[in-house]
Amino acid sequence: MNKKKSLYSEILLITILPILLLGIAITILCVDRFSQTIYSQVQKELQDMALAVLNTYDIMYPGDYAIEEKNGNKEVYKGEVLITGNYEYLDNLKEDTDIDITIFYYNTRILTTVFNDGKRIVGTDANNLVEKEVLENKQAKFYKRMYVENEEFFAYYKPILNSDGECFGMIFAGKPIKDVKEEIYNSIFLIILVAIVSICIMALLYLYYTKMIVKIIKNLQEFMEDISSGELYSELDSSILNRSDEIGLIGKSAVKMQKSLKVFVDQDVLTKINNRRCGEKLLNKTIAESVNKGTKFALAIGDIDWFKKVNDNYGHECGDFVLQRVACILKKSVEGKGYVARWGGEEFLVVFNNSTLDTAYRILYSIADEIRNTKIFYENKEINITMTFGIVEGNSEVKEYDIIREADKKLYSGKNAGRDRIVR
Ligand code: GH3
Ligand code: MG
Ligand code: MG
Repeated sequence: MNKKKSLYSEILLITILPILLLGIAITILCVDRFSQTIYSQVQKELQDMALAVLNTYDIMYPGDYAIEEKNGNKEVYKGEVLITGNYEYLDNLKEDTDIDITIFYYNTRILTTVFNDGKRIVGTDANNLVEKEVLENKQAKFYKRMYVENEEFFAYYKPILNSDGECFGMIFAGKPIKDVKEEIYNSIFLIILVAIVSICIMALLYLYYTKMIVKIIKNLQEFMEDISSGELYSELDSSILNRSDEIGLIGKSAVKMQKSLKVFVDQDVLTKINNRRCGEKLLNKTIAESVNKGTKFALAIGDIDWFKKVNDNYGHECGDFVLQRVACILKKSVEGKGYVARWGGEEFLVVFNNSTLDTAYRILYSIADEIRNTKIFYENKEINITMTFGIVEGNSEVKEYDIIREADKKLYSGKNAGRDRIVR
């Protein structure tokens, strides 16, 4: 079985899906770049801080680092000054920058701002990896993840070299990973929020646009469906016809096609007024309206008198011309009051909507007058004609067939009574 495809889902598939994927890709890329930038920034901060501390010590306390053991305690001197236990400078730095500093004598912490259980972690040793990579290789190194007494740090280690090139120890500058991650998450949250909002707005716009287009196409399709099933009086939404784009053009072409078909189907070729088929359709509408609203109407059938003589005396073409003129007079006179149709050869149907028999009779009387007084010229010959009508009143109870038959009867009684008259 052929699976029915919907234009709506197809358009959505080729619009929203790529946007969604693009949005996700851009977000991931942004988040990754952003995290990288923050990592680099933190790395630079830590490097600068370690260097700044060493430089400050060098300026404040010129000379090399040295260790002395007193009563089993290790004491560190910088030049002549004892720096062990002197935390004022490092604690101030930590408070201002949130960066922890540790000074190591080889791999043992002798000065630190890092606390564990409320105590500075002085006397503990650095990780073996750091000892190997920083102290043994005498190389500064940045670690994205380094455990310092159970807490994860972004850590920068730099060896401290005395003037003779000997490695005294190292300096650590670090930031707890949870602090940096919080910083990253806060910023990323904003990026993701903006991305989600943008994707949602775009998706909503696409949804709205797709819905609108699909609705228009559905309207057009229904209109065409009506035409193809012979319903030529349905109307196309004016919002489609007012569009200046391709859809508007399709709509206009469809309406043009409807009009052309109407002409083919409903118009009499010779007289250009409604043909019998259309007359019957309109009459059924009139009867239906009368049933719905309880209104009255009047129906007349008119026939040109002695028309055969026109053909015989002046030729068939002249007869055609006369038919056209009569049709024209009838149409013009009934316009706005009802409708006319060519019912047969020289017979016409005239219907007056929302009218009593009296009113219709008066109008028809003046129409018959006009026809009688009209001089029809054909190839310099003047032709005068008259018409005989049978007129009846219609209401919600009449049937199409009965009312026509009744009007016909009256018409023929008019013919028998001498023609050129209206029988009611
Ligand atoms: P009556 O007053 O009794 O109606 O007389 P009549 O001559 O009009 O009626 P009849 O039925 O004898 O003749 C009608 C004529 O109308 C015969 C036919 O050739 C002619 N006719 C029908 N259709 C056309 C048409 O389309 N063009 C022309 N030129 N003549 C037509
Ligand atoms: Mg006739
Ligand atoms: Mg006739």
